[in-house]
Formats: sequence, structure tokens, C-alpha cells
Amino acid sequence: MIAPGTHLAFQTGAPVELEADYVVVGSGAGGAAAAATLVRAGRSVCVVERGPWRDPQHYPLSVYGAMRDLWSDWGTLFARGRSMIPILQASCVGGTTVINSAIVVRTPPAVLAEWAELGLGEVFSEAAVGAEQEALERELGVTRMHGRQLMEHSEALLRALRSRGLEGHALDRSARDCIGSGQCLQGCREGAKTSTNLCWVPEVITRGGTVLSCAPVGRVTIERGRAVGVSGRFVHPAPRRGERRRGARFSVRARRGVLLAASATGSAPLLERSGVRSAALGRGWRGQPGAAMIGVYPHEVRMERGTTQGAASLAYRSEGFKLESLSLPLELLAARVGGAGHRYARALEEAPRMAMWVAAVRAQAQGVVRAGRFGQPVVRYAPSRADTERLRAGLGRLARLHFDAGAEKVLPGIHGVAPELGPDELGALESAPLDNRCYTWVLSHLFGGCVMGKDPRRSVVAPDLHVRGVRGLHVVDAACLPTTLGVNPQHTIMAVARIIAARVVNEENVA
Ligand SMILES: Cc1cc2nc3c(=O)[nH]c(=O)nc-3n(C[C@H](O)[C@H](O)[C@H](O)COP(=O)(O)OP(=O)(O)OC[C@H]3O[C@@H](n4cnc5c(N)ncnc54)[C@H](O)[C@@H]3O)c2cc1C
Ligand code: SF4
Repeated sequence: MIAPGTHLAFQTGAPVELEADYVVVGSGAGGAAAAATLVRAGRSVCVVERGPWRDPQHYPLSVYGAMRDLWSDWGTLFARGRSMIPILQASCVGGTTVINSAIVVRTPPAVLAEWAELGLGEVFSEAAVGAEQEALERELGVTRMHGRQLMEHSEALLRALRSRGLEGHALDRSARDCIGSGQCLQGCREGAKTSTNLCWVPEVITRGGTVLSCAPVGRVTIERGRAVGVSGRFVHPAPRRGERRRGARFSVRARRGVLLAASATGSAPLLERSGVRSAALGRGWRGQPGAAMIGVYPHEVRMERGTTQGAASLAYRSEGFKLESLSLPLELLAARVGGAGHRYARALEEAPRMAMWVAAVRAQAQGVVRAGRFGQPVVRYAPSRADTERLRAGLGRLARLHFDAGAEKVLPGIHGVAPELGPDELGALESAPLDNRCYTWVLSHLFGGCVMGKDPRRSVVAPDLHVRGVRGLHVVDAACLPTTLGVNPQHTIMAVARIIAARVVNEENVA
């Protein structure tokens, strides 16, 4: 018998059997937001999370430690297309909110207008999403970055934008007490970032809910067209020699419904493994891939000082890309600067004088996510030529901004372009190859696989918010978003999850 308000980590021995009104799979941006909404409405909830529970004081300092303790599968997931693009996500209680930069941007009204055309206008109206996001901003302590949070790395971007009369702003982040340690990717040891493991997951437990960690859900149980629970087997996050990796089996019975929030790489494969059949399942997978332009300055920048991401510009949103400052820990920067021998050694010596800014593309390309043979997701996705053109344009703009801010040279990181360019050599960027394999893309903003919409051929979730053909089954994470956003996704995912969870409770007696 498990008492209410319990966290249960890795278990061995007899199967663990639980029951709750609702089961929520995944505890990241979508899952935790939905679970908190359900417990606030007085429902009993069991959150089942694949990754381990980690407290801020145990977050690792090194990137190696973050890969081991927080990142999903050691950061080894890739989108496979013409090239392999790394997909960055976390797998721990709190999901990717533990390692993200906590940037908060409201859903652009133009995006909600696109959703309305897909039949979602009644549920996700501008008023409904706006009200939810306003409440979230208060709850998460969203604050505009300033002073020591910004530092030279982000200030220089803002100065350069201003000098060209372009829009630029210090970021709003759910990190009220950020001290600018530049460690967001390794989790915030200060506990300054309001990741969901520090706010809503503890609230679920305080209100009597149960949380299982180290508990990857293998299947959703569907009986006579209704989702009635989930099952899986505990997995030890770091077994020592002689210890078993696989632990006890678990099953959680859901009296009222199952809400999936296993992310844009996890939710569709889970439905596939659970026997849900839909032509749209796994499709409509999208991303906002990005790449960086490094500027080398005559003076110290020390990008590790200040918040990981402090400044941004939406000046080019209509052209399909967004600009942001982004600092990388030295281990990752060392992989990005590239080269060999003396040139590589010199680049590393120059690291304290580097500032890194990124262009993130609102890509048009669509891909597919499927369940792999050994349980891992397989993502097939490649940015299109038009997406690559946008990235090239974004990197060109960033190079110019670096020179406006006083850089001596830039390091484009584009195959087919010289490794270093001076201010008079930027023409090389305009004629850089449009083959997506030539760019150092990274994917961290992911969408789709179980998208919502009115067209059954193109959507898995109907406008009534149920997975088509299965009562009591809902998707509340990035997987259900039917389009990209052109801005950072956490705020939209959280608002969407809360709206869906509240509707599910309101319509209990109808379902
Ligand atoms: C480095 C980085 C920086 C980012 N910065 C920002 C930012 O500043 N602002 C912003 O808006 N967005 C940012 N993002 C993106 C944002 O964090 C994600 O879009 C968001 O967290 C996705 O929410 P989600 O609920 O879909 O998935 P996640 O938050 O990834 O949560 C999914 C959870 O489900 C669990 N899970 C998966 N499969 C199973 C299973 N079978 N059983 C049980 N549990 C399972 C996972 O372990 C994970 O904990 C960033 C992302 C990265 C990688
Ligand atoms: S910059 Fe440092 S203090 Fe600020 S949120 Fe990130 S990890 Fe926390």
C-alpha cells in the first residue's frame, strides 16, 4: 500500500500496482503543468516519469555529468535526414525544464490564428491562452533580465541591434533569482530557475498525488476503446557493478483518464507501442533548429558570466528566424570551434574573448517520429532548402552584428566557408552552400507527432482533445502542437497543457 503524497523511485521485487483518477506520463513542461491543474481541481493524480529525481544541490557542474544525470540518453538522440542533427532533451523529473534557459515568450497571435484554421480556435482562443499565460507568469516569477544577469555577452548583442535601429530586448525568464552563473544547461544549482521539478511536481505530492521516477511507461492500456492505465518496468538510472538495471514491473490504473506528456520524441512512439493506429501518428514532426555564429573580440567577453541566454531579437521573425545570445560551457564550445592542431589550440586560447549568438529558424520541414526496435524513438527529419536559406540569412545578420559590436573576426562553422572571416569577407556567407549538411544545426525546440486538428488524416487528437478513437486519452505536451511557433515553446506548452487538463476535468461526466 502506497501512502498518498509519495515519491517512489527505482524499485525491485514484486510488481508495484497503483490507482489514481488520472495518470500523467512525463513531468516536463506539459506533464507537470497538467498534473498540477488536476490536483488543484481535487483529482488524485499519479505522475509517471522515465528519468530520475535530482535535487539542485546534486546537479552536476560538468557537461559530462549533465549528460549522465540529466540529459536524455546521454544526448545521443539525432534527427536523421541528409545529415544527423543532435536533438537535445532532458530525462529527469522536471523534464527539459531542468536544463532549458527558462525563456518565456507568449504565443504569437498569428500562430493562434493558424490553429483556428485547424479547428482549434474555440479551445485555444487568444483570450484563453493569454489569460493562462498571464497567470503562469505570476506563478513562475517571470522576470526581465538585467544587470549581472546580462553581462557583456548579451549586452553586446543589444548594443549592436540598437546601433542598427533593430528590435532587441532583454529576455523574460522564469528565473527570478538568477545570479547569472551561465549553467542552465547543467541544471540550475542555485534553484533560481522555476523548473517544474521545483514547483508543480512538489505541489502534486503535497496535494496527495504520487510520483514514480525511473519509470519509463512501456504501454498505455486500452480496453474497449478507453485508456484505463499505463504499465512499464523501473530502470535504474546508474547501476553499479553487480546491480541490475531493470527493476520491478509497475502498472497504474487510471479511473478517469491518461494524459501523455512524454515529449515530441516520446508521446507518438508510446501511442504506437500501445496499439493506437492513425495515419497521422508520428507525422507532422517539426522543429526550430538553429546554429551559432561566434564572434572573437579584442577584449575579454567571458560568455560564462551572466545568464546562459539573456538577449534576443524578433526583428527578423517575419523572415522566419529569431536571434538570441547563448553561452556554452567550454567543453561544448570546444566541439563547436572545430579545427585541429595549432588552429584549434589558438581557438581555445581565444575562448575568453568569444561571444556566441544563435539564429533559430521557424522551419517549414516536417518529419516523422517512430518507435525504434529497442524502445528508443527514431526521428526522420531534414531542414529544407528554404529553411537552410533562412539559417544562412540569420547567420549573415549575426556576423554583421558581431562586427558592429566590435568583433575582430567571426567563426561561421559552415562547411565550404573559411573557418574565420574578417569584416571585409562577409560576402562568403551570402554565397555559402545551401546544402543543410554544411551547417552545425542543433534541435532543441521540437513539436508534433500527435498533433491536434480537425482533419483526421492529418491529426491524431481531435478538437474535442481526445486521441481519436480512444476515450480518456489526451496529449498535453509539445507533441500535440500542430505548428511551430517562431518563439520559445515552454510558455505555449504549459498554457496548452493547463487548458486541456481543465477541460478534461470539466467534461468528466460527458466523456
Ligand atoms: C537546452 C535547451 C534550452 C531550451 N530553452 C528553452 C527556453 O529558454 N524557453 C523555452 O520556452 N523553451 C526552451 N527549450 C524547449 C523546452 O524546454 C521544451 O520545448 C519543453 O520542455 C518541452 O516540454 P514537453 O512537456 O513536451 O517535454 P519535456 O519537458 O522534455 O518533458 C518530457 C518528459 O517525459 C519523460 N518521458 C519520455 N518518455 C517517457 C515514458 N515512456 N514514460 C515516462 N516518462 C517519459 C521525459 O523523461 C521527460 O522528463 C529548451 C530546450 C533545450 C533542450
Ligand atoms: S544562469 Fe545560472 S543562476 Fe541563472 S538560471 Fe541559469 S543556472 Fe540558474
